[in-house]
Amino acid sequence: MDRSRILEVIKQYDKDSITIATLGSHSALNILRGAKDEGFRTVCLCREKERIIYESFGVADEILDLKDYPDLLKKSMQDELIEKNAIIIPHGSFNAYIGKLDELIVPVFGNRMLMAWEVDREKQRKWLINAGLTLPKTFDKPEDIDRLVIVKYPGARGGMGYFLASSPEEFYEKAKQMVEKGLIDASEIENAHIQEYIVGANVYFSFFYSPVFGRVELIAADRRYEASVDGLGRIPADQQLRAGLMPTYTVIGNFPVVLRESLLAQAIKAARNVVEVSKQIAYPGMVGPFCLEAVFDENAKMIVFEISARIVAGSSVGIPASPYSYVLFGEPMYMGRRIAREIRLAAEKNMLDEVIY
Ligand code: AMP
Ligand code: AMP
Repeated sequence: MDRSRILEVIKQYDKDSITIATLGSHSALNILRGAKDEGFRTVCLCREKERIIYESFGVADEILDLKDYPDLLKKSMQDELIEKNAIIIPHGSFNAYIGKLDELIVPVFGNRMLMAWEVDREKQRKWLINAGLTLPKTFDKPEDIDRLVIVKYPGARGGMGYFLASSPEEFYEKAKQMVEKGLIDASEIENAHIQEYIVGANVYFSFFYSPVFGRVELIAADRRYEASVDGLGRIPADQQLRAGLMPTYTVIGNFPVVLRESLLAQAIKAARNVVEVSKQIAYPGMVGPFCLEAVFDENAKMIVFEISARIVAGSSVGIPASPYSYVLFGEPMYMGRRIAREIRLAAEKNMLDEVIY
């Protein structure tokens, strides 16, 4: 989508009555609550089966029905949103269920081009390496596996069907089992991303890059709660062996994390570098939320295995404030609210063009 067409749309908006809109899933409660806290009208676009969630919390001033997520792209729906001066806040479901936003003319908060970098693992890797980060080794083909690896697939699928292997034979055996269990499609094996498994402590850092303040902010940190890997430790080892249990990584929830303070230097430097490189790869560079997904190894070295170029669901551990957002702002602040605050400030300063794409 040509950026100038989107800028044309936002130019027509009444800046005093902007509506914040998002799809009803992933982190919509976070986004909508944040928008209300900053005084915006809110619209939630949701499917029948998720309606119960958004009706229960009362943070959507209006709920618009969708048969399925891609209906967002229908002309009538887009016209209605533009009519409401809507800015869309994208999240993981945009990647997982819609994909490219080429046909979306409604302004999106953040940089939709970087979301495309996120879903392409090769591009993503280039971005992180150019930012000088340490990444796990990757293997081009299963035959090259010579150590413990984790096998993943493209897109934001929340760990579903991921598995571990230590050899080419084990890779093919487990891939077969995953297909039989219905956790992955046979065709996905070919696109599998094979990555060295780093043993350590996971931390997901939710950062925010603010064009208004020209700074990188740490808003929250979390770790995941996953089925079945987090359940395995509750079963004795001999039972695990007898039952032939195999961990997978379907995300179920998240826990908040506070880091050993000295480790924050690595994370903040990494985030700043990622933002610098983003400016070279996709104009206008990073805007708003992004997440660095890392493992700290036994030497407390940070190894980054993924970046999400949008809000992550784990940032919801920081509602109404995380220790970090509170230290920074001295008031309740969390990702959804931070996004809305940026939109409000950008509107006041005539900078809306710089925070949407
Ligand atoms: P959902 O709205 O639950 O269908 O999630 C949309 C996409 O985001 C899916 O690909 C999920 O796997 C992913 N997702 C949802 N919640 C989380 C979470 N708490 N942590 C990580 N990924 C998530
Ligand atoms: P992801 O969907 O990439 O965020 O990862 C899903 C799960 O796999 C999380 O529990 C991660 O901590 C774990 N994971 C992903 N990549 C690695 C890696 N290279 N080493 C260790 N754990 C990983």
